[in-house]
Amino acid sequence: GADQELRTLLLSRIHDVPDYPKPGVTFKDITPLLADATAFAALTDAFAGLCREYGATKVVGLEARGFILAAPVAVRAGVGFVPVRKAGKLPGATLGQAYALEYGTAEIELHADALVPGDRVLVIDDVLATGGTAEASLKLIRRAGAEVAGVAVLMELGFLPGRERLAGELAGAPLEAL
Ligand code: AMP
Repeated sequence: GADQELRTLLLSRIHDVPDYPKPGVTFKDITPLLADATAFAALTDAFAGLCREYGATKVVGLEARGFILAAPVAVRAGVGFVPVRKAGKLPGATLGQAYALEYGTAEIELHADALVPGDRVLVIDDVLATGGTAEASLKLIRRAGAEVAGVAVLMELGFLPGRERLAGELAGAPLEAL
Protein backbone atom coordinates (compact mmCIF):
# COMPACT_ATOMS: atom_id res chain seq x y z
CA GLY A 1 0.00 0.00 0.00
CA ALA A 2 0.85 3.66 -0.13
CA ASP A 3 2.48 5.58 2.71
CA GLN A 4 0.25 6.64 5.58
CA GLU A 5 -0.06 10.30 4.58
CA LEU A 6 -1.20 9.40 1.06
CA ARG A 7 -3.60 6.72 2.36
CA THR A 8 -5.19 9.23 4.73
CA LEU A 9 -5.58 11.80 1.93
CA LEU A 10 -7.08 9.28 -0.50
CA LEU A 11 -9.44 7.76 2.08
CA SER A 12 -10.71 11.21 3.06
CA ARG A 13 -11.78 11.78 -0.56
CA ILE A 14 -13.63 8.47 -1.08
CA HIS A 15 -17.26 8.50 0.01
CA ASP A 16 -19.12 5.40 1.11
CA VAL A 17 -22.64 5.37 -0.32
CA PRO A 18 -24.74 2.75 1.48
CA ASP A 19 -27.20 0.57 -0.44
CA TYR A 20 -26.09 1.76 -3.90
CA PRO A 21 -26.69 0.54 -6.58
CA LYS A 22 -28.67 -2.03 -4.59
CA PRO A 23 -29.44 -2.91 -0.95
CA GLY A 24 -26.48 -4.37 0.93
CA VAL A 25 -23.80 -2.87 -1.35
CA THR A 26 -21.66 0.03 -0.15
CA PHE A 27 -20.58 1.97 -3.22
CA LYS A 28 -17.12 3.55 -3.11
CA ASP A 29 -17.62 6.95 -4.75
CA ILE A 30 -14.34 8.40 -6.03
CA THR A 31 -15.81 11.57 -7.56
CA PRO A 32 -14.68 13.71 -4.55
CA LEU A 33 -11.13 12.44 -5.09
CA LEU A 34 -11.25 13.27 -8.81
CA ALA A 35 -12.49 16.78 -8.00
CA ASP A 36 -9.58 17.41 -5.61
CA ALA A 37 -6.55 18.42 -7.70
CA THR A 38 -4.03 17.56 -4.95
CA ALA A 39 -5.49 14.13 -4.21
CA PHE A 40 -5.93 13.21 -7.90
CA ALA A 41 -2.34 14.26 -8.67
CA ALA A 42 -1.01 12.29 -5.67
CA LEU A 43 -2.93 9.21 -6.81
CA THR A 44 -1.67 9.62 -10.38
CA ASP A 45 1.93 9.96 -9.14
CA ALA A 46 1.59 6.82 -6.99
CA PHE A 47 0.23 4.76 -9.91
CA ALA A 48 2.91 6.18 -12.24
CA GLY A 49 5.57 5.17 -9.72
CA LEU A 50 4.31 1.57 -9.84
CA CYS A 51 4.27 1.76 -13.63
CA ARG A 52 7.99 2.58 -13.65
CA GLU A 53 8.81 0.13 -10.85
CA TYR A 54 7.17 -2.73 -12.80
CA GLY A 55 8.72 -1.68 -16.10
CA ALA A 56 5.31 -1.33 -17.76
CA THR A 57 5.17 -0.30 -21.42
CA LYS A 58 1.36 0.15 -21.51
CA VAL A 59 -1.40 0.84 -19.01
CA VAL A 60 -4.80 -0.77 -19.46
CA GLY A 61 -7.79 1.02 -17.91
CA LEU A 62 -10.97 -0.92 -17.13
CA GLU A 63 -14.26 0.75 -18.11
CA ALA A 64 -15.34 3.14 -16.83
CA ARG A 65 -13.61 4.58 -13.78
CA GLY A 66 -10.39 2.78 -14.70
CA PHE A 67 -10.24 5.01 -17.82
CA ILE A 68 -10.27 8.17 -15.69
CA LEU A 69 -7.55 6.89 -13.38
CA ALA A 70 -5.30 5.22 -15.97
CA ALA A 71 -5.18 7.90 -18.68
CA PRO A 72 -3.22 10.50 -16.64
CA VAL A 73 -0.94 7.72 -15.38
CA ALA A 74 -0.04 6.84 -18.96
CA VAL A 75 0.85 10.47 -19.69
CA ARG A 76 2.81 10.86 -16.46
CA ALA A 77 4.74 7.59 -16.92
CA GLY A 78 5.31 8.14 -20.65
CA VAL A 79 3.57 4.96 -21.81
CA GLY A 80 0.51 4.28 -23.95
CA PHE A 81 -3.06 3.93 -22.70
CA VAL A 82 -5.26 1.02 -23.83
CA PRO A 83 -8.95 0.67 -22.93
CA VAL A 84 -10.64 -2.61 -21.99
CA ARG A 85 -14.33 -2.03 -22.70
CA LYS A 86 -17.66 -3.68 -22.20
CA ALA A 87 -18.56 -5.83 -25.21
CA GLY A 88 -19.79 -4.01 -28.31
CA LYS A 89 -18.10 -0.64 -27.74
CA LEU A 90 -14.75 -0.96 -29.55
CA PRO A 91 -14.93 -0.32 -33.31
CA GLY A 92 -12.05 -2.50 -34.52
CA ALA A 93 -11.31 -6.23 -34.45
CA THR A 94 -11.47 -7.37 -30.82
CA LEU A 95 -10.62 -10.19 -28.47
CA GLY A 96 -13.46 -10.94 -26.04
CA GLN A 97 -13.51 -12.55 -22.64
CA ALA A 98 -16.63 -13.60 -20.73
CA TYR A 99 -16.63 -13.92 -16.96
CA ALA A 100 -19.08 -14.95 -14.26
CA LEU A 101 -21.02 -12.42 -12.18
CA GLU A 102 -23.11 -13.15 -9.08
CA TYR A 103 -26.05 -13.62 -11.47
CA GLY A 104 -25.21 -14.35 -15.10
CA THR A 105 -22.15 -13.35 -17.11
CA ALA A 106 -20.47 -10.26 -18.52
CA GLU A 107 -18.04 -9.80 -21.40
CA ILE A 108 -15.19 -7.35 -21.92
CA GLU A 109 -13.16 -6.65 -25.04
CA LEU A 110 -9.72 -5.44 -26.09
CA HIS A 111 -8.68 -4.25 -29.54
CA ALA A 112 -6.78 -7.20 -31.02
CA ASP A 113 -3.89 -5.00 -32.20
CA ALA A 114 -3.66 -2.73 -29.14
CA LEU A 115 -0.87 -4.73 -27.53
CA VAL A 116 2.19 -6.29 -29.10
CA PRO A 117 4.45 -9.12 -27.95
CA GLY A 118 7.05 -7.53 -25.67
CA ASP A 119 4.51 -5.18 -24.10
CA ARG A 120 4.39 -5.29 -20.31
CA VAL A 121 0.98 -4.19 -19.12
CA LEU A 122 -0.15 -2.58 -15.88
CA VAL A 123 -3.92 -2.90 -15.31
CA ILE A 124 -5.52 -0.02 -13.40
CA ASP A 125 -8.99 0.22 -11.85
CA ASP A 126 -10.67 1.96 -8.92
CA VAL A 127 -12.06 -0.98 -6.94
CA LEU A 128 -11.10 -4.66 -6.80
CA ALA A 129 -14.24 -6.44 -5.57
CA THR A 130 -14.75 -10.07 -6.66
CA GLY A 131 -11.79 -9.81 -9.04
CA GLY A 132 -13.82 -11.07 -12.00
CA THR A 133 -13.24 -8.04 -14.20
CA ALA A 134 -9.52 -7.84 -13.49
CA GLU A 135 -9.09 -11.60 -14.00
CA ALA A 136 -10.80 -11.43 -17.41
CA SER A 137 -8.62 -8.45 -18.40
CA LEU A 138 -5.45 -10.39 -17.58
CA LYS A 139 -6.67 -13.24 -19.80
CA LEU A 140 -7.21 -10.77 -22.65
CA ILE A 141 -3.72 -9.29 -22.20
CA ARG A 142 -2.12 -12.74 -22.33
CA ARG A 143 -4.23 -13.76 -25.34
CA ALA A 144 -3.04 -10.59 -27.11
CA GLY A 145 0.51 -11.90 -26.67
CA ALA A 146 1.60 -9.36 -24.06
CA GLU A 147 3.00 -9.82 -20.58
CA VAL A 148 1.21 -8.88 -17.34
CA ALA A 149 3.35 -6.39 -15.37
CA GLY A 150 0.81 -6.15 -12.54
CA VAL A 151 -2.54 -4.86 -11.34
CA ALA A 152 -2.91 -1.61 -9.41
CA VAL A 153 -6.15 -0.47 -7.82
CA LEU A 154 -7.10 2.42 -5.60
CA MET A 155 -9.06 0.13 -3.25
CA GLU A 156 -9.34 -3.55 -2.55
CA LEU A 157 -12.47 -4.77 -0.75
CA GLY A 158 -10.68 -7.04 1.71
CA PHE A 159 -13.83 -8.89 2.76
CA LEU A 160 -14.20 -10.32 -0.77
CA PRO A 161 -11.86 -12.98 -2.19
CA GLY A 162 -10.76 -10.87 -5.19
CA ARG A 163 -7.08 -11.26 -4.45
CA GLU A 164 -7.44 -15.06 -4.24
CA ARG A 165 -9.45 -15.17 -7.47
CA LEU A 166 -6.75 -13.15 -9.28
CA ALA A 167 -3.77 -15.09 -7.98
CA GLY A 168 -3.73 -17.77 -10.68
CA GLU A 169 -3.96 -15.36 -13.59
CA LEU A 170 -1.42 -12.96 -11.99
CA ALA A 171 1.08 -15.85 -11.98
CA GLY A 172 3.36 -14.05 -9.54
CA ALA A 173 2.90 -10.53 -10.92
CA PRO A 174 2.15 -7.92 -8.22
CA LEU A 175 -1.30 -6.75 -7.13
CA GLU A 176 -1.07 -3.39 -5.38
CA ALA A 177 -3.95 -1.63 -3.60
CA LEU A 178 -3.07 1.95 -2.75
P1 AMP B 1 -15.24 -7.06 -9.63
O1 AMP B 1 -15.18 -7.60 -11.03
O2 AMP B 1 -16.27 -7.73 -8.79
O3 AMP B 1 -13.87 -7.03 -8.96
O4 AMP B 1 -15.77 -5.59 -9.73
C1 AMP B 1 -14.93 -4.62 -10.13
C2 AMP B 1 -15.64 -3.52 -10.89
O5 AMP B 1 -16.88 -3.15 -10.32
C3 AMP B 1 -14.74 -2.33 -10.85
O6 AMP B 1 -14.62 -1.83 -12.17
C4 AMP B 1 -15.41 -1.36 -9.91
O7 AMP B 1 -15.43 -0.09 -10.48
C5 AMP B 1 -16.82 -1.87 -9.70
N1 AMP B 1 -17.15 -2.05 -8.27
C6 AMP B 1 -17.35 -3.22 -7.62
N2 AMP B 1 -17.70 -3.03 -6.36
C7 AMP B 1 -17.72 -1.69 -6.17
C8 AMP B 1 -18.01 -0.84 -5.03
N3 AMP B 1 -18.35 -1.35 -3.84
N4 AMP B 1 -17.90 0.49 -5.22
C9 AMP B 1 -17.57 1.00 -6.41
N5 AMP B 1 -17.30 0.27 -7.50
C10 AMP B 1 -17.37 -1.06 -7.38
